[in-house]
Amino acid sequence: MRIQSTGLPSLYDAIVVGAGPAGVSCAVWLVRLGFNPVLVDAADAVGGLCRINPFMDDWNASLPGVNGLQVADNLSKSLAQTKVEYRLKWPVQTVRTCASGFEVLGLNNDVLKGRYLVLATGVKARGLSNALPNPRVLVGPGRHVANFDFTNQRVAVLGGGDNAFENALFVLEKGARNVQVFARTVRAQRQFVQQLPASALTIGTYTVDSDSLTVNNEPYDVLLVMYGWEPNVEFAAELGLARTQRGFVSINFETAETSCDGVYAIGEVASRQHPCVVTALADGVTAAKAIQARLEANVN
Ligand SMILES: Cc1cc2nc3c(=O)[nH]c(=O)nc-3n(C[C@H](O)[C@H](O)[C@H](O)COP(=O)(O)OP(=O)(O)OC[C@H]3O[C@@H](n4cnc5c(N)ncnc54)[C@H](O)[C@@H]3O)c2cc1C
Repeated sequence: MRIQSTGLPSLYDAIVVGAGPAGVSCAVWLVRLGFNPVLVDAADAVGGLCRINPFMDDWNASLPGVNGLQVADNLSKSLAQTKVEYRLKWPVQTVRTCASGFEVLGLNNDVLKGRYLVLATGVKARGLSNALPNPRVLVGPGRHVANFDFTNQRVAVLGGGDNAFENALFVLEKGARNVQVFARTVRAQRQFVQQLPASALTIGTYTVDSDSLTVNNEPYDVLLVMYGWEPNVEFAAELGLARTQRGFVSINFETAETSCDGVYAIGEVASRQHPCVVTALADGVTAAKAIQARLEANVN
């Protein structure tokens, strides 16, 4: 049975910020459970990081044979099928508590009000500190790397995780003259490390100059910076959310609720589980069910 929202017409049961897999899943489940959420995203399309993944997504056991862009399109279809109310090009500037729950402020003084707030804003790739934008310094994995012409280029890859090694192997395959991975420590999966020639790996501290494109004073044509990710939560600073040691939003593992009563954080912004589409979708379910329990407790 669909439970009607009991507040003012302008009060949503939940405001979900971020229309990647986590936010879409949460909003779809909330609607299917009988509630009235609204979903907002800064981007002009649904899908989050899946939108910059042109490669096959072979990690979803229930959806073989699709690439990241198709996953994003499927998320969009799910919103349409479920008739979720959503707004794109709606970058949240700040969020704050109010008597009825939460106020979420967009551009031009647009305000949305909700009983509960779900942060599903994902992550952004960490770049080199104090570096000016440079088209030959590619930060993080994705479409910009896939579209770059590496033929005969000397490439330095900075970082020791999966993305560093996977992208180094990709660049080699794309005809780079040489590739050197610089890793302070190696944390990548063994299968990736073993595929890279041992001579292409330098382990230990190194110095980078992004203006002259040098690493340890050796010149390169392109630098790939694969320094991991940081959460998109600056806009929620007013809530004073507790963070994990790695800077992600701290949550209760069972409910995905943050240190702030009524605020949930799901998907990569909380890094609750291994970051991928399937765990982001699962996080959306966890938060939707926790919100359902609270909304139904309030109604009865
Ligand atoms: C190149 C690449 C390849 C990948 N390949 C795979 C794969 O094959 N399989 C797999 O399972 N996973 C893959 N991943 C990981 C997967 O895409 C992520 O784990 C997943 O998208 C995380 O979902 P999310 O909903 O937590 O965040 P995101 O997908 O990052 O979505 C967050 C959304 O929040 C929005 N947002 C941020 N800040 C604001 C704000 N202030 N106001 C409004 N909106 C905001 C963003 O615009 C974005 O749409 C890949 C990632 C990359 C980068």
